[in-house]
Amino acid sequence: MKHFDYIIAGGGCSGRSLAVRMLSYLKTSNKQVLLVDKVSKKENDKTWCFWEKHPDVFEPAVYRKWNHLSFFSPAVNEQLNICPYQYKMIRAADFYAHTEQQLSENNQVSIIQGNVEKIYTEKEQAFVVIDGETFSTDYVFSSIPQIQEKRPDRYQYLLQHFEGWTIETKLPVFDPDRAILMDFNTVQQGGTSFIYVLPLSANLALVEYTVFSENELPAERYTAALKQYIREQLNCQDYCIKEQEKGVIPMSDHPLKQQENRIIYLGTAGGFTKGSTGYTFRFIQKHTAAIVEQLLKSGNPHISAISPKRFDTYDATLLHLLSSRRLSGEEIFSTMFKKNNPVQILKFLDNETTLMEEIQIFRTLQKKAFALALLNRSLKLIKTS
Ligand SMILES: Cc1cc2nc3c(=O)[nH]c(=O)nc-3n(C[C@H](O)[C@H](O)[C@H](O)COP(=O)(O)OP(=O)(O)OC[C@H]3O[C@@H](n4cnc5c(N)ncnc54)[C@H](O)[C@@H]3O)c2cc1C
Repeated sequence: MKHFDYIIAGGGCSGRSLAVRMLSYLKTSNKQVLLVDKVSKKENDKTWCFWEKHPDVFEPAVYRKWNHLSFFSPAVNEQLNICPYQYKMIRAADFYAHTEQQLSENNQVSIIQGNVEKIYTEKEQAFVVIDGETFSTDYVFSSIPQIQEKRPDRYQYLLQHFEGWTIETKLPVFDPDRAILMDFNTVQQGGTSFIYVLPLSANLALVEYTVFSENELPAERYTAALKQYIREQLNCQDYCIKEQEKGVIPMSDHPLKQQENRIIYLGTAGGFTKGSTGYTFRFIQKHTAAIVEQLLKSGNPHISAISPKRFDTYDATLLHLLSSRRLSGEEIFSTMFKKNNPVQILKFLDNETTLMEEIQIFRTLQKKAFALALLNRSLKLIKTS
C-alpha cells in the first residue's frame, strides 16, 4: 500500500491553500504530500472576494482590489472608507493556475486527479480510498463535503444563492476605484436580496444578484433581477454579458466536525463558512495558516479554534433573525453600516473584534429584535438538547 505523510483530499480553495502554505514546512522536513481532486481545476468556476489589511500568500493571484466601497439601500447611501483594509477579488482560474505552478515545482507534493471514495482511520493511521486504490497516511485534510443529517428542530438552514454577470457596457458606467459591497435597491421577494458590483474598468464589471432564503429561485428570477438592476440602477441599456457565474453557499448554525482522530476538515466541510454571511475565503486562510504554524512548531497539525466561540452565537442569532424574517437583511445591514465605522464592521465580520468593540456595535443595532432572536435560538437549543 502506498504511503504519504499527508493526504489533502479535495484540491479546491482550502486544499490548495493548505498545500501552498505547507511548502514552507516541507523545506524543513522530508515529508511527502498527496493532493487529490476529482476534477482538474482549471475552470474559472468562481470568484472570491474578501478584505484584508496586509498582502497574504495569494497576493500574486489577486485580480483586482479596491480601497473604497459603497453601501446602498432605499434609505441609506454610504461611501465606506475601509483603510487599512483593501477589498480584493481572486478569480478561481488564476488561483488554480498560481497554486498549480507553485506546487508542481516541489517534488515533495504529488497532485493527482481521482475520486475519493472513502476516508477512515484505524489505530494510528488514516486511509483514503481513491478510485478503488487505498493509500495510507499519517493525517488526512479533507474539504470533501461531510454528509450531515439536518436538524431543523434545532438549527437554522438558509442558502445564499446567486447569479452574477460580467457585463461590458457601451458607455462608461462604473467607477473602477469603488466596488459596491451591497445594494438593496433590488427586488426584495422571497428573502433578503442585494446586488454587489465589482468594477474591473469603467465599462466592465461583475454584477451579482444574491439572495438569502431557504430555497433557490427559478432561473428566470435571477435574470429578471439582474436586468432590472442594470436598467434602473446603473441606467444602462446597452451591454453584453461576457461571463456568468452561479452558486450556492450554505448558511447554517449546525456545527460541523472540525477534526476526528487523524482526519482534519477544511473549508466549508470543516464549518469555516461564516454562518451569517457566507464569507469563507479569509477563514480558510486563517485556518490553514494556523495548521502550518502548528506543524512547524510541533509536527502535529491539530489546532484549537481560530475564532472565539461567542462569534458562533452572534452568527446563529443573525441567522435566526434572517430566517424568521422578523427583521429584513436590508434593515439589519443598513443600520450596521449607517451607525458604525465600516472598518469596525469588517473587523467584526472577520470575528476579530474585542468584546468591548462588539458591545459598541450591538448598542447601535435593533436591540429588541436581536434579544428576541437570541432568546428564541437558546430556547430551541434547550428544548432539543
Ligand atoms: C460560486 C461561489 C462563489 C463564492 N464566492 C465567495 C467569496 O466571494 N468570498 C468568500 O469568502 N467565499 C465565497 N464562496 C464560498 C467559499 O469560499 C467557496 O465555496 C470555497 O471554494 C470553499 O472552499 P473549499 O475548499 O471548502 O471547497 P471547494 O473549493 O469547493 O473545494 C472542494 C474540492 O473537493 C473536490 N471534491 C469533492 N468531492 C470529491 C471527491 N469525492 N473526490 C475528490 N475530490 C472531491 C471538489 O472537486 C473541490 O475541488 C463562494 C462559493 C461559491 C460556490
